Amino acid sequence: MTVAAAAACQNHPSREAIGICVECRARICSECVTKVDGINYCVACYARLADHGARRREADEVASRPALAYLAAAGALLLATLLVWGLLEVALPGGG
Ligand SMILES: [Zn+2]
Ligand SMILES: [Zn+2]
Repeated sequence: MTVAAAAACQNHPSREAIGICVECRARICSECVTKVDGINYCVACYARLADHGARRREADEVASRPALAYLAAAGALLLATLLVWGLLEVALPGGG
């Protein structure tokens, strides 16, 4: 424990902090820091940023993506049902 508490990373007491998170002012070491456009973020704040970004991208994708996947799935199910019906009619003796 040679690193003074004041200069230690909030997550790693034995590591020296090299920066301060602009969001929460937490001291962070080189392992915990994430630089975005030259600005330091701690892990938690960067995760929050990334989460926001991911959600926005996800929403855009969902909005722009047509319901083709759903239609394809429904079509495949219908085809499978018809196929099974056909096989059953061939396998079973028809009427009597
Ligand atoms: Zn932070
Ligand atoms: Zn750290």
